[in-house]
Amino acid sequence: MADPTPRVVVIGSSNTDMTVRVPSLPGAGQTVLGRDFLVSAGGKGANQAVAARRAGAEVAFVTAVGDDDFGRRSLDGYRGEGIDVSFAKTVPGVASGVALIFVSEDGENLIGVASGANLELSPADIDALPDDLFRAGDVLLAGLEIPIPTAIRALRRGKQAGMTAILNPAPAPSLTEAEVGYLLAEADVITPNRIEAIMLAGVRPGEKPGPNALAAGLLAMGPRSVVITLGAEGCLIVHEGESLAVPSPKVQAVDAVGAGDAFNGILAVGLAEGLSLADAARRAVKGAALAVTRPGAQPALPTRSEIDAFP
Ligand code: ADP
Repeated sequence: MADPTPRVVVIGSSNTDMTVRVPSLPGAGQTVLGRDFLVSAGGKGANQAVAARRAGAEVAFVTAVGDDDFGRRSLDGYRGEGIDVSFAKTVPGVASGVALIFVSEDGENLIGVASGANLELSPADIDALPDDLFRAGDVLLAGLEIPIPTAIRALRRGKQAGMTAILNPAPAPSLTEAEVGYLLAEADVITPNRIEAIMLAGVRPGEKPGPNALAAGLLAMGPRSVVITLGAEGCLIVHEGESLAVPSPKVQAVDAVGAGDAFNGILAVGLAEGLSLADAARRAVKGAALAVTRPGAQPALPTRSEIDAFP
């Protein structure tokens, strides 16, 4: 019988997003006068932790922040969501991660991230986590806005403990062949978007493999399952030799920032509940579609009852 309380451990980034709305994106050397300024909690790891929590799981979020106001406010916010941050690390003398975001009137964006304390989350920090955080049957979700060796160690520790280890290989950083090999060997499930799938599969310029060919190439590199997210089209799952397209509900998209994070957090909860990958993905596309109908990343993340009520 499935565990009544799904548990998800998210190991990833925490940032503060600072967004300026401008008429058009500035070019190099240009100053553009905008009007609104918005400060909100962000970082892919944090967004995924909040998505999983709102989708109904008990969530522990392992992250690193600086000993500054941004870090304290972020941790307070996660606690306010009911997320366990007792294993989050506060790094003295280092700034918390910050993303500077420009959004233009036509919805284009330009983002620069100062990773700060996120880069201080080390493999030794993962080794120091208690064994009872890694419980067989639970789900571990790791991303790549933290050092790659840390993500590899996290996936390995989760997998060895009998958890389902999900790698969301985002953003698509430049990785060595060895890093790609280790990441894919340690993950049970990988959830790249189309660009990340192309990057991981080592597609050469000029080649244009479709999602099925990309997934087949990635599957051969180690994971049990591949889920490629395809924006408004939904996602493609390849699992145990079968491939399944899961279409997205059609929605009026307002802001797709954080769509992938919503998808990953909700998928993780479904798997922790014992749903099949296909059923977990069906719920995740509904939740991610809801998220894109609302502005912002974390404020847009739906609750479980909103997801269940969505047609
Ligand atoms: P990322 O946000 O990481 O770039 P995608 O663009 O593939 O990844 O989006 C992740 C998921 O969010 C998709 O699989 C889909 O379920 C959902 N999604 C994204 N954009 C839309 C959209 N315009 N309409 C409906 N769902 C969307």
